[in-house]
Amino acid sequence: VDEETAMPTENATPPIHQGGCLCGAIRYSVVGDPVAVSLCHCVNCQRNSGSAFSVNVIFPRNALTMHGSPAVYEDRGDTGEIVRRLFCGTCGTPLESQSVFSAPICAVLKAGSFDNPAQFTPDSELYCISAMPWWTDGSERKHYDRLNIDDAGVTGSPFSQ
Ligand SMILES: [Zn+2]
Ligand SMILES: [Zn+2]
Repeated sequence: VDEETAMPTENATPPIHQGGCLCGAIRYSVVGDPVAVSLCHCVNCQRNSGSAFSVNVIFPRNALTMHGSPAVYEDRGDTGEIVRRLFCGTCGTPLESQSVFSAPICAVLKAGSFDNPAQFTPDSELYCISAMPWWTDGSERKHYDRLNIDDAGVTGSPFSQ
C-alpha cells in the first residue's frame, strides 16, 4: 500500500502567505488559505486606497502574525461602528482593517500588500452602490449593494472597509 497517495492531504503543509508595506517596516504572515476575497467599493475604501476600491483578503484571525507596529486610524463606516484601519506610519501603506463585526474572527488584509497578490481572486463585491460608473464588474462574483449581511456563517460578517 502506498500510504503517501492513500491520504494525500493528511500531512499537507498549509501555505504561508507573506506581505508587508512599501518601506518594509511592517511585515506579516498568514497561514492557510483565505476564507474570502472581496472588493469593497465603499467611499471610505476609495479614499483610503486612493483608488476605485479596496481588495480585501480575509483569513481566520489566528492565522495572522504581524511584525512591526502599524499606525491606526479609527474610521467609521456607514453603520456608525468604528473601523480600525492599520497602516504603516512611515510609508502609509494600508495593511489591515478591523471592524467590530470582522475583527473577533477574521483578519482582513489588503490584497496589494501581499508579496504575491495575484494568487487571490475576488469572489464578491461589496458596496456596489458607490462603485465607479466606469467599473465593469465580473459576473462570476457575488454582488451586494452594501454589506454582505445576507450571507450566513463566517462570511456573514461585513468584510468591507
Ligand atoms: Zn512602510
Ligand atoms: Zn470599504
